[in-house]
Amino acid sequence: LAGRMMDFPLTLTHFLERARTFFGRNEIVSRLPDKTLVRSTYADFHRRTGKLANALSRLGVGQGDRVATLSWNHQRHLEVYLGAPAMGAVVHTLNLRLHPNELGYIANHAEDKVVVVDRSLLPLFRKFADQVRSVRHVIVIPDLPGDTKTSAEIDYEELIAPEKDEFAWPTLDERSAAMICYTSGTTGNPKGVVYSHRSTVLHSLVSCMADTIGVREGDTVLPVVPMFHAAAWGLPYSAIAAGSRIVFPGPHLDPQSLLDLMAAEKVTLAAGVPTIWLGILQLLDQHPGKWDLSTVRSMVIGGSAAPPSLIDGFKARHDLDVTHAWGMTETNPLGTLARVKNGLSGSDDATKLGCKASQGYAVPFVEQRHVGEDGAVLPWDGETMGELEVRGPWVASSYFGAEGADRFTEDGWFKTGDVVTIDHEGYLRITDRSKDVIKSGGEWISSVALENALMSHPAVLEAAVFAARHPKWTERPLAAIVLKEGKTATKEELSAHIEAKFAKFWLPDDYVFMAQIPRTSTGKFLKTKLRELHGDHLEK
Ligand code: ADP
Repeated sequence: LAGRMMDFPLTLTHFLERARTFFGRNEIVSRLPDKTLVRSTYADFHRRTGKLANALSRLGVGQGDRVATLSWNHQRHLEVYLGAPAMGAVVHTLNLRLHPNELGYIANHAEDKVVVVDRSLLPLFRKFADQVRSVRHVIVIPDLPGDTKTSAEIDYEELIAPEKDEFAWPTLDERSAAMICYTSGTTGNPKGVVYSHRSTVLHSLVSCMADTIGVREGDTVLPVVPMFHAAAWGLPYSAIAAGSRIVFPGPHLDPQSLLDLMAAEKVTLAAGVPTIWLGILQLLDQHPGKWDLSTVRSMVIGGSAAPPSLIDGFKARHDLDVTHAWGMTETNPLGTLARVKNGLSGSDDATKLGCKASQGYAVPFVEQRHVGEDGAVLPWDGETMGELEVRGPWVASSYFGAEGADRFTEDGWFKTGDVVTIDHEGYLRITDRSKDVIKSGGEWISSVALENALMSHPAVLEAAVFAARHPKWTERPLAAIVLKEGKTATKEELSAHIEAKFAKFWLPDDYVFMAQIPRTSTGKFLKTKLRELHGDHLEK
């Protein structure tokens, strides 16, 4: 028997219209490069997005055309985020931390037709503009109000000013593309992931569930994670869906600037990668009580493993709650999220921290399993390590172009490249990315577990454990350590701090102290670089 309900399309256009219909007065705040704040409303955002769509249409942007952005997090970026997809075009976010040659490759691969770029990023754009054959128009977003036009490119404000507020949004197929994001390509060329309206809408609705991120109208959301990194984890879309107040940090992502903004704007929900939060925790520890963060109800941390000491440190010393989540560009990106299930809420503190510091379990409609090297599905015993595979309506089914077909299994799962254990409750724990796994004499050693233990030492700000070549064991763990300002620790002290927690053969053979650990364009430890720098350390 067929269901008899309407086949109403799940498109972002609905979120955009709803934002104006019900939440017109809700505020959007953007921090400009000079640190001043610009305040706007959903009504204004809707009006400007309509103007943008009319302008893009006049420039010849049609269904399926790619509109690229090279921008920090701010309201005009949000206008492109909604306007381009709602008119049937596709927004493509360029990662401003990539090398110009990579950006050129990506923009060409995506066949970007229009590029919308912050004026401050024009010098970067010009470094690869010549490589991109498909671009017809470059639109420049002024950095400050009244910024006078100094270039041949189209000025965003001048472009949209004469346009009508209303755009005749077309009825779209919910399966059509809304956004393209590229993976950062730490292995091989960057690969394009094409989100559909449907995938993004469903992802947003699940992000609004109370037991996931729980985005709601009463929230003031601060997406610290850049809008060029996996759609800022979908937060701009979830916030619009819920009608939340949004605060955009612009280019100011240092701990002091973020803390000032969180306190002044009474942020309730913020999201970013662990390195951001490690810096924030260090500053809070140095100046306890300086910032009033009593409105903050959750800080979402993901992108790489949030160490238990970070989660515990925020709670114990500053009464701040962390929500640890796992995801990938290929999963729109939210995949799993760590919360303590009701049935475990009576457990001891260590067990509860164990749940909160794990990568959690799959959110509704995402399914998880892990498999061995022979492809066999592994038991959920909390010990057996295998590669995580996921499937669901916001998991990529293929990449844009011909690349990466080997990441999809014949029975419809996506191979994440993450090595995990899963316990009988379903909590998964990432032990490594498969390309970073340390294999010592045929046994796997979890770099993430060692890093978490090292980062619980009071003098350690950051620890990255990686594989160094070894004449006898092929590979052995080596730890790169960044100490907190003004703190000291010797190799012997660090070793003594963690030795009780691990089998002897897991312990790092040596420690190298560094001023900073090299990072990827999305703020993760760049272990390929560490291996390049120190891979021969144990052979010397
Ligand atoms: P890239 O592949 O360029 O790093 P992504 O942002 O898509 O880009 O990275 C996804 C990867 O980040 C995951 O496969 C996983 O290795 C890592 N990751 C994401 N969230 C977490 C987390 N909470 N804990 C550990 N690793 C994480």
